[in-house]
Amino acid sequence: MNLFKKISILLLISCAFAFAKPTIYILATGGTIAGAGDSQIKSSYSAGAVTVDKLIAAVPAINEIATIKGEQISSIGSQEMNNKVWLKLAKRVNELLARKDVDGIVITHGTDTMEESAYFLHLTAKSKKPIVFVGAMRSGTSMSADGPMNLYNAVNVAINKESAGKGVLVVMNDEIHSARDVTKTITTSVQTFASPNSGKIGTVFYGNVEYFMQPTKAHTVNSEFDVSKIEELARVDILFAHPEDSDTFVKAAVEAGAKGIIHAGMGNGNLFPSTQDALAQAAKDGVVVVRSSRVPNGSTTLEGEVDDKKFGFIAANSLNAAKARVLLMLALTKTSDPKEIQKLFLKY
Ligand code: GLU
Repeated sequence: MNLFKKISILLLISCAFAFAKPTIYILATGGTIAGAGDSQIKSSYSAGAVTVDKLIAAVPAINEIATIKGEQISSIGSQEMNNKVWLKLAKRVNELLARKDVDGIVITHGTDTMEESAYFLHLTAKSKKPIVFVGAMRSGTSMSADGPMNLYNAVNVAINKESAGKGVLVVMNDEIHSARDVTKTITTSVQTFASPNSGKIGTVFYGNVEYFMQPTKAHTVNSEFDVSKIEELARVDILFAHPEDSDTFVKAAVEAGAKGIIHAGMGNGNLFPSTQDALAQAAKDGVVVVRSSRVPNGSTTLEGEVDDKKFGFIAANSLNAAKARVLLMLALTKTSDPKEIQKLFLKY
């Protein structure tokens, strides 16, 4: 082959690479984004009724910007989310992102527990490639359904080079949030997701992505949690504090086999006296007790009004109770030493 021919072939190959569309996998788990109902103006519908192929077909514009492949992981309302689906999702995401021909992943999910699933992936996915959670507050059959634009925006975030290395992202209502800090704040509004302690990290408007910040806590490739060989996770329960609280639920959790308890305490993670005594006993018996808060903003700090050293408690730092539960379940795959687990709560 002469030099001219060789150069032409090389040019052709590089052009093909330059113009090839990125490949994005859409992994569907269910939720309102896949919901269908009988009326445009009623809030009743069945979550997860629509398959991934139909979700993709409803937003043809995503095929112009990426090669889209769909997979059904589950078809549930996210209030049914469970360890089995989390482990399946994490393993599949890691398999797909290890492949050279996959550029990013979009996960469609119900909004009720999206913050927990996204954080689970944030700590267990081993890739710098974009992983984007998306959902909807209105089902596909509602008036002004928000799912199609959310999905279009999520695919745009997944193909954007700046999304790499930011950990797992949540895209809803034109905003981009880090999985660590995002939480559902309004039961019914399309503007429900917010990151109370840190704020959104970017915006996406008709597919145009703009980032303002970089998540700073450890995640994905810098996370020590590896679920590739794990089939089960330890039971961790959450208890919600209130005046005239009782020790009944602490005792019930321990009896049911909880290896960890998250206490969503009052204010800076404060406890009703009888609950505090029961949790101190549980900690003495080897159950890992984490103090979080029922307050949506701020941190639960060590040695505030509670003598954590004396009782053997851990402080959740700036994680809410739902996310503290995810981190504790993963921490328990490594250690049950409260001192080590406290370090993990400051790191992640
Ligand atoms: N309960 C449903 C879910 O989380 C509704 C919330 C939604 O997807 O908006 O799947």
